[in-house]
Amino acid sequence: MFKAVYELGKLVSSKVEQTQRFTTDIGDNYVHELAIVFDKRGDNVDFVRCEKRTRSRRNYLFREKKGNVSVPISLTLRSAGKGSEKIVEKFINYGKANKTPLASEISKILFEKKEQIVDILDKIMDTLPKKERKFYTVVIRDGGEEKYPGDIDEFKEIFMKNILKDTDALEVEGTCFLCGKKEKIGFKASEIFKFSSFDKPGFAYELNDKKYYVNMPLCSNCFSFLSMGKKILDQDLSMNFYGSKVYILPRFYYRDVEDVKDLMDVSRGIKRIKELKDIVVEKNNPYKAFEINMYLYLAEGVYTALNFVFYTAKNQEMKIHLSVLDVPPSRLRQISDIAKSIEDELSLTFATREYQPSVMFGPLYEVFKDGRFRTFFDYVEAIFKNEKISLQPLKRATLEYISSLKLNSKPFATKAKQLVTSAFFVDRLQHSVEGGL
Ligand SMILES: [Zn+2]
Repeated sequence: MFKAVYELGKLVSSKVEQTQRFTTDIGDNYVHELAIVFDKRGDNVDFVRCEKRTRSRRNYLFREKKGNVSVPISLTLRSAGKGSEKIVEKFINYGKANKTPLASEISKILFEKKEQIVDILDKIMDTLPKKERKFYTVVIRDGGEEKYPGDIDEFKEIFMKNILKDTDALEVEGTCFLCGKKEKIGFKASEIFKFSSFDKPGFAYELNDKKYYVNMPLCSNCFSFLSMGKKILDQDLSMNFYGSKVYILPRFYYRDVEDVKDLMDVSRGIKRIKELKDIVVEKNNPYKAFEINMYLYLAEGVYTALNFVFYTAKNQEMKIHLSVLDVPPSRLRQISDIAKSIEDELSLTFATREYQPSVMFGPLYEVFKDGRFRTFFDYVEAIFKNEKISLQPLKRATLEYISSLKLNSKPFATKAKQLVTSAFFVDRLQHSVEGGL
């Protein structure tokens, strides 16, 4: 998977400027932007106001950093829930440490009007739901244009200087984990992917449960590509999946990067699928469009497959539940076709006013979610990978589940039908191997 993320990053990086490779996603939960707005006329800078804005795709020049940093590398910081004063102080430090014109000017104004600005920001903060996350940034109005930190050359230079300074260890020579070249290797993959489990085969090609401690030193180029790839994953290719999340990671095989550059825009369409289960739903299936596009390129010699990485994240640490690698588009079409055929068949005998047979992962999740999460993912794996799996655990779990519903006098007929539909689907997939892959 590292390789795939790296390749994705490399592909996208050919289109974007250097700083973009090193910024990280602020995080889906951070929905509220607290902007300190300044007005710039020539060399003259004035404070205008503070505003609450909705987070957008503007270039915040954000980079996640561990620990308590007193001088940030950019003027975008997540709220740590400790009030606005600490953040404003850090922004002031930014200008003191980087004595460039705009940074100094902003720092000076923030220092002079600190009380006033902190007060406004805290008041805005109080109006926002406590549970929803916030972040702070600055906006510079310059000649009718609004600029965020990532739009300002001066800030971009400071950012890059800090990234490079962070890697004093770059002086160490060694073999890069990704490109395998003898390079200066001061970067670690663990700064981008933080795992609480490393035990899924195929996740990183030199890792397994006996070698989980393997360090993954990277050269600066590979680090920037991996970092960029991770950002694309978080922004565009990550979705919810029954109590966990999943990355859907396309792999492109190509001879010339020019051939596939545009594919990235196509693959971003994946994000329009809110839930993975939607890929087996026929109507308005955005995945279909993706797949059809892929075939055009397939004919021209570009081959593609998809990796599915199921995970949960806690305190920025990922726990991988399942990593399904190299699923060809034909397998997904097969899943979709079989789901459709089961639904058609069962609609004759099974359909009621309450229940229209449809194949979903939901019922499987429901019977296994308490204590047998692993078994749920065994079935998910069997579905995506066409691995042999016994229906026995599903049958047993179904019986237990239905009897407990009965025992508690809860409605069970629809649930039972859903489970039978799912079992039929898994069974049919198991028996349709020929020519499938
Ligand atoms: Zn490298």
